[in-house]
Amino acid sequence: MIPPSFTYARATSVDEALALAAEHGEDAKFLAGGQSLLPLMKLRFAAPSMLIDLGRVTELSYVRDEGTYVAIGALTRHHDVVHAEVLAADIPLLAAAAETVGDPQIRHRGTIGGSAAHADAAADLPATLLALDATFVVKGPDGTRSVPAAEFFKGIFETALEPGELLTEIQVPKPASPAAWSYQKFNKRAIDFAIVGVAVQGAGRHARVALVNMASTPLRATAVETALADGASVADAAQLAAEGTHAGSDIHASKAYREHLARVLTRRALEEAAARA
Ligand SMILES: Cc1cc2nc3c(=O)[nH]c(=O)nc-3n(C[C@H](O)[C@H](O)[C@H](O)COP(=O)(O)OP(=O)(O)OC[C@H]3O[C@@H](n4cnc5c(N)ncnc54)[C@H](O)[C@@H]3O)c2cc1C
Repeated sequence: MIPPSFTYARATSVDEALALAAEHGEDAKFLAGGQSLLPLMKLRFAAPSMLIDLGRVTELSYVRDEGTYVAIGALTRHHDVVHAEVLAADIPLLAAAAETVGDPQIRHRGTIGGSAAHADAAADLPATLLALDATFVVKGPDGTRSVPAAEFFKGIFETALEPGELLTEIQVPKPASPAAWSYQKFNKRAIDFAIVGVAVQGAGRHARVALVNMASTPLRATAVETALADGASVADAAQLAAEGTHAGSDIHASKAYREHLARVLTRRALEEAAARA
């Protein structure tokens, strides 16, 4: 499959990328790892007239310990998230979820910022960042702003990013009990997206639970979290995992099967997080 023709420019800095975006307007798109955008272009589901390649914007590739949180540059590859020492020590949930993305080739190309900006509800990192209460730092023509994860994912492949805005950094607070985590991903082959996934950070009354592929956006399992906070058992709380979700049916699973998976995987995730705590 051949994508429609487009103009290409390679930015070498954040300022250059933003200037190019301002010059070319809404028809321009940033290209990070290309693992989501290029397949969409080849299928002609996306047809930007201008691609702004971020691959040489090395200033956005880092994982930094900032004391109470870890700052991750938007251009950081999944592979580097998996192997960052500070994440292994302080936020192992994020490293573990990144390790389930696609295959090694995809993890060497794809970026954490690209995954967040693409906002696929079936992707592993958006829901994980939601469970971790991350903050997204966005730079645009009007300056820099910070968007909490709860307000970043707006709809199907839609985020709080405005045209011309660049996601530059993701700030992930260090959890009080880093060891209390679990990431459960149910798929058919290792390379596949999740049919359903569950990210849990924390244990007992303080567990935060986010769901993959149970609605048009990643979402928090608020009924489960509230039940746990009120003292419910893991088994009882997990039974509420499908409440407030809007799972779809497709060739991989029916809505009812996804709801069943959400309950089962949530119970497993809560049990594993509690055992690790
Ligand atoms: C075969 C295959 C299997 C996969 N399996 C999985 C999987 O199991 N789990 C999973 O989570 N993902 C999976 N992916 C997707 C992969 O994780 C991608 O890396 C990710 O979704 C997009 O990151 P990217 O850097 O490649 O972004 P790109 O494809 O370059 O960009 C995606 C979108 O984000 C925008 N964008 C990128 N960076 C920025 C930025 N800094 N600021 C603003 N906008 C930006 C682009 O304009 C574009 O609209 C798979 C992909 C493939 C091809």
